[in-house]
Amino acid sequence: MKDQSLKEQGTISIHTENIFPIIKKWLYSEKEIFLRELVSNAVDAIHKMQHVNLVEGLQNADDYRIDVLLDKDGKTLTVKDNGIGMTADEIRRYINQIAFSSAEEFVQKFKDLEDKSQIIGHFGLGFYSAFMVAKKVEIRSLSYQEGASGAHWTCDGSTSYELSEIEKKDRGTEIILFLDDDELEFLKPARIREVLTRYCNFLPVAIHLEGDVVNDQNPLWTRMATELDDDDYKTFYRKLYPFSDDPLFWIHLNIDFPFNLKGILYFPKLTNEFDVTKSHIKLFCNQVFVSDNCAEVIPEFLSPLQGCLDAPDLPLNVSRSYLQNDPQVRKIRDVITSRVAGKLVELDKQDRKAFAAIWADIHTFIKFGMMKDDKYYEKLKDHTLFALSGSDEWTTLPEYLENTSAAKATTVYYTNDEVAQSTYLKLFKAQGIDVLVLDAQIDSHFIQFLEMKNSEIHFARVDADVTENLIQQDVASELVDAKDGKTRDERIADLFKQFLKDEELEVRVERLKDESVPAMALFSEQDRRFQEMTRTLGKEIRIPEKGPSLLVNASSPVVQNILDLYAKQKTEDVELLVAQVFDLAMLTCRAFDQDRMTRFLDRSNQLLARVNSEVAKD
Ligand code: ADP
Ligand code: MG
Repeated sequence: MKDQSLKEQGTISIHTENIFPIIKKWLYSEKEIFLRELVSNAVDAIHKMQHVNLVEGLQNADDYRIDVLLDKDGKTLTVKDNGIGMTADEIRRYINQIAFSSAEEFVQKFKDLEDKSQIIGHFGLGFYSAFMVAKKVEIRSLSYQEGASGAHWTCDGSTSYELSEIEKKDRGTEIILFLDDDELEFLKPARIREVLTRYCNFLPVAIHLEGDVVNDQNPLWTRMATELDDDDYKTFYRKLYPFSDDPLFWIHLNIDFPFNLKGILYFPKLTNEFDVTKSHIKLFCNQVFVSDNCAEVIPEFLSPLQGCLDAPDLPLNVSRSYLQNDPQVRKIRDVITSRVAGKLVELDKQDRKAFAAIWADIHTFIKFGMMKDDKYYEKLKDHTLFALSGSDEWTTLPEYLENTSAAKATTVYYTNDEVAQSTYLKLFKAQGIDVLVLDAQIDSHFIQFLEMKNSEIHFARVDADVTENLIQQDVASELVDAKDGKTRDERIADLFKQFLKDEELEVRVERLKDESVPAMALFSEQDRRFQEMTRTLGKEIRIPEKGPSLLVNASSPVVQNILDLYAKQKTEDVELLVAQVFDLAMLTCRAFDQDRMTRFLDRSNQLLARVNSEVAKD
């Protein structure tokens, strides 16, 4: 069988004569991937050997290993494996023909591609990527087959090669790269270590460099979730993202059917530096690092997710726009989304307090996701948390509607500013009505969305209207003037309009259960939302803004006194009190201009002086 006299020269069958210049030019930005390709081939060769051993029952219980050898003097980099090896004939078939035709295919596809940066690093250029950094490449290989002789292949980057026989005792393949003069950085161990850590960190075969094994052959995602604890996940996370805070939660994917997908995804503790607009997941294909930008497999609303996904079935050597519409990718996206939702539900069920503790970090993405994806909404709608104003309790929408003591359990009261709306909150609290805190940017959209989804409920900000519960129902407003038939309440309303010199102002008089607040500004939910919307739409649309209306509390002693003072014709006092009551009510909902603020402060000082002289009298 031995072909002792093998010494052949030939031309690699290829039509594109200038393939190497193209490879060199276009792949310039990511030259280092040559190492990933060669090491992956070595892993493949070892896998094949393991497979043959298994099938043929051979007892080659070797220590499988890959060595990356650097020779400073010879200016060579060698990737050596003890895998299956190649005979001269196999080199002819797999290197000369097949590999070249795939390289040719690469060039063909590459020519048509609009965004060339998309494909770099995704296309398995394989063995020939060695020519990105080498002026000459040698293969020395010994096949596992009995009686095989060593084969030696050399190619200087042109389309001709030499193939001959050599003495080689140990099974396996050495790929020797004679580095280009301007690629000598690849002789530096630190540089090689960096590249190996980036692309080969989790390969299943030990990679030796200068006496060390550089990779972790059993990354966490290849192990069973049942044999791992929280510390294992956190340690792995720190290994992937050193100097980061502990992740908030994680999910371990281990799917065999209907497709293969393994991985561990983490939701990080977000910081200001964290860029939520890009993908942070490292994508692997059988433990070979492929990319850390795989926005396609993660829905936008899960963009903060970090971690590793090993998706061996993904078509990686195609363009991104194709990936996006690939049914396989869509399935992966769905699985991830559903698993994240499942995890969130589980966290809420397990421990509401702990779930609430991470809520601030995750709620924007959850709400955004619910608005984007109906299935996600359905899963999470009963586990979306809302803070209750004035307490450290959290609730969900169904819980709120069930527990609320409000008469109409279809209105959800909320505050978007607990400080500014404190007067209102006090009233609600006194009546035992729960108020949700909805103060995030996304919340106004989320409220609209929830109302659209649940047509029977509506949200009302605490200053939108007074609820029946805040009003004394049983006190009828007695008639005071038989002549004009006006009630006391109507007279109060008239008085305010008259003294505020504002006929447009809507004044409503009610008897609140709480006597301490003389008046409140009310801003109809509809009007306010409409104004907020037109404001965000831009400056083209200018609709005259409607101001809030005034609710005057007839149970307030101050208000009652105003009416008496008017009857006694103490007009100046009435004017002072009416103006002050009005300003106090409006203070929290509208920024005063300088003029109004000055008048408010003057009046306040005037009142203070009066109180002072009263006190001094006693
Ligand atoms: P691919 O890995 O996608 O098949 P490559 O260009 O990387 O394409 O490799 C071409 C072929 O060369 C491989 O399929 C394999 O048969 C052979 N080959 C490359 N490297 C080795 C190696 N280290 N040991 C054995 N065979 C190899
Ligand atoms: Mg390959």
